[in-house]
Amino acid sequence: MNKCINLIEKLYKTKSLSIDEYEYLIANRNEESTQLLRSYAVQKRKEVYQNKVFVRGLIEISNICKNDCYYCGIRKSNLNCERYRLSISDILSCCDEGYALGFRTFVLQAGEDGSFSDEWLCDLLSKIKSSYPDCAVTLSIGERSKESYQKLYDAGADRYLLRHESADELHYSKLHPKNLTLKDRIECLENLKEIGFQTGCGFMVGSPYQTTRNIAQDLKFIESFKPDMCGIGPFIPHKQTPFKDYKAGDASLCCYLLSIIRLIKPNILLPATTALGTVETDGRERGILSGANVIMPNLSPMSVRKKYTLYDGKISTGEESAQSLNKLKISMQKIGYEVVVDRGDISKE
Ligand code: SAM
Repeated sequence: MNKCINLIEKLYKTKSLSIDEYEYLIANRNEESTQLLRSYAVQKRKEVYQNKVFVRGLIEISNICKNDCYYCGIRKSNLNCERYRLSISDILSCCDEGYALGFRTFVLQAGEDGSFSDEWLCDLLSKIKSSYPDCAVTLSIGERSKESYQKLYDAGADRYLLRHESADELHYSKLHPKNLTLKDRIECLENLKEIGFQTGCGFMVGSPYQTTRNIAQDLKFIESFKPDMCGIGPFIPHKQTPFKDYKAGDASLCCYLLSIIRLIKPNILLPATTALGTVETDGRERGILSGANVIMPNLSPMSVRKKYTLYDGKISTGEESAQSLNKLKISMQKIGYEVVVDRGDISKE
C-alpha cells in the first residue's frame, strides 16, 4: 500500500497524525487519496449527522473595521469601501425573514466595528433570543476581552466563530499588521471555549505565503484545540488590498482538507463556505460531498450585500442567497442530502 493510503487509514482509526504526516498527505495528494479520504469523511459524517445539512442565516451586520488585515476587502485602509452598520431593527427584520424561511440559527458577522459596545450587542442578543427562543445565535465579530465575551454569552449568544487564520506565527505575521498577533487570537479562542461557547476556528486555503507545512500546522492545531466548528475556504484576492495580485486558493485542496478535518473530528460542524462557492460554481455541493455539513446562505438586506465584499466576485444573489433556499434544498436533494429546519447544534461525541 502506498504511504498516503496508510496515513489515511491511520487518521481514520486514530483521528491523529503528526505534522510531518499531515504535510506528506497534503504534498502527495492524488486521485486515489482524494477518493479514499472523501469516502471515509462522508461515512463518518453520516454516522453522526446522517444526510442532514444544517443551514445558518448569515447577517453581515457591519462592514466597519478597525483592523487592517492584508487580505481583507473591508480592511480599514480600503477607502473605496462604502461603510454601513445595520440597526437593531434592520437585523430583527432579517431574522424575521430568516425564521419564516426555516432558519433556526442566525450568524451575525461583522468587521471589528469599534462602536459595538457590550450594551448594544447584549440588547440585540436579548431581543433576538426573546423573539426566537428556539434559535441559536452565532457571533463572528472578532477579538474582544474575556469579560466582553462572557457578557455576550450571558445575553444568549450560543456560538462564536473566530478563525485562527494561521497556526504558524511567521505566516500569521505576513497576513496581518504588527498589532495583530497569533498569541492574542489563540487566547481569544481559549477564552471563548472556557466560557462555554460552541467555538469555531479556521483558516483560508491558499493565502499568500502559506506553505504546505503551514496547512499541516493548521490541521495539528485543529486536532489539539478540538473546535466545535471550523470554517475553511479558499483565499480570494480583493483588488483594493495589498494582496490584490496573488492568486486564489484551490477548491480541490480545500475539499481535500474538509475531508481530513472531518476525520480529525467526526462531529465537527463544517461549512461548505461562500468562498468555496465563489471559486467554483458547484463548490458548495463539492464541499458537502467531501464531508462538510453546514451551509450559510446570506440573509443580509440586499441593499448592503455588495458592500460586505471581503474578496472579489463574492456570490451575492441567486442560489446562495437565503431567499433561494428552495433552490438550495433541491441542489442538496440531487446529491442525496436534506436541508433541515434545526438549530444544528454539535452532536455529542
Ligand atoms: N472580523 C471578524 C473576524 O476577524 O473574525 C469576522 C469577519 S472576517 C471578514 C471573516 C473571515 O473572512 C476572516 O476570518 C477571513 O478568514 C475571511 N476572509 C477575509 N478576507 C478574505 C479573502 N480575501 N478571501 C477569503 N476569505 C477572506
